[in-house]
Amino acid sequence: MTTKRGFTTTILHDDRLGKPEHGSLHKPIHTSVTYGHEDVQDLVDIFQNKKKGYAYSRQGNPTVTALEHKVTNMEKGMASIAFSTGMAAISATVMALIKHGDHIVASSFLFGNTRSIFQTYTDMGLDVTYVDATDVQNVRNEIKASTKMVFVETIANPATQIADLEAIGDLCAEKGIIYVVDNTMTSPYLFNPIDVKASLIINSLTKYIGGHGNALGGCVTDTGLFNWIKFPNIFETFKKQVKPETLGLTQIRKKGLRDSGGTLSPEAAHSISVGAETLALRLERASNNALALAKYFESHPLIKKVFYPGLESHPQRERAAKLFAKFGALMSIELDESIDCLAFLNKLKLVVKSSNLGDTRTLSIPVAQTIFFELGAEKRAEMGIPESMIRLSIGIEDLDDLMDDFKTALA
Ligand SMILES: *Cc1c(COP(=O)(O)O)cnc(C)c1O
Repeated sequence: MTTKRGFTTTILHDDRLGKPEHGSLHKPIHTSVTYGHEDVQDLVDIFQNKKKGYAYSRQGNPTVTALEHKVTNMEKGMASIAFSTGMAAISATVMALIKHGDHIVASSFLFGNTRSIFQTYTDMGLDVTYVDATDVQNVRNEIKASTKMVFVETIANPATQIADLEAIGDLCAEKGIIYVVDNTMTSPYLFNPIDVKASLIINSLTKYIGGHGNALGGCVTDTGLFNWIKFPNIFETFKKQVKPETLGLTQIRKKGLRDSGGTLSPEAAHSISVGAETLALRLERASNNALALAKYFESHPLIKKVFYPGLESHPQRERAAKLFAKFGALMSIELDESIDCLAFLNKLKLVVKSSNLGDTRTLSIPVAQTIFFELGAEKRAEMGIPESMIRLSIGIEDLDDLMDDFKTALA
């Protein structure tokens, strides 16, 4: 953290802090793959973690560093590492820190691809237990000697369950377990997981932070709260090279980013940095649109159920109101049996039928037929996913236009 300025002011002026070339307001896009050094000792020192600098762009690039700095500021963290996608950030973080036989407790409402990579790691010797993380007791019951990590999301997709974030943070702090919070759905504008004692924060930059559906990216932020020196999976060579507080990210950069190769391109880093400048404005507007639409849907006879944390009917509404600045822009609706879900979606003219979320535009997708199709009907029922569920990622369009589109389609 460099200043005590507000959220948006800090992001807007972050690139000028490093005295950029020609007074450029944006960090330039550095496309060089490799970096030459006058004195070879500098290159040696960079390799040996004795000096900060750039050697080869797979492990670090100035344009990407500028974005990492912004995410760190937004998350009030210590430092961050950016990746090519949110999935790259998640898979590399787990790969770098977890060994064969280690145990992870994870939310059973995880993002589908996160669950999929956890399954792949399970096939390679990781032990994962999935629990309903809306109640800390379920997490506590599964902690054992080999538990190295608890992994949760803030607001689950598509049914919007909210993890017992504060109590799980206390539990992990008490037990000395790495607490990973995927903050994608709330973004650092609505919520900072450091406030619930998270050790590591994941953000898919593709979603709200980039915000325009034009670049993929991911990030992991170390809050500085976890004591890495006591963590048994840290490599001895790193312990000799770097300060104890930077051990976690050093291992994620070297063993996770370098070895997986999930590197963010400088062009994408630039697009995401520009997007991040308006995160607060976009999410204010999209959250307000979402709350108004959720109330309208809830009062509509053809809509059976609305899943949105801002509604009185939501089981964790109080938790959301306490922790988050707004209730976010993601919601799901369950249609009445009398309506065909796909026919209804085809009646929408403005709302885009598309996956992804966190775009400036409102996006809609039938859940059972697409993102939860692979699971099958039985598993969907088990997870509380109705067959006529539609997920909506509300955008920043004018509210009247969105209302008109839904009203016409429901008429
Ligand atoms: C989209 C998403 C991811 C993955 O991000 P990508 O950038 O698409 O790889 C991870 N977690 C959550 C909660 C997401 O919504």
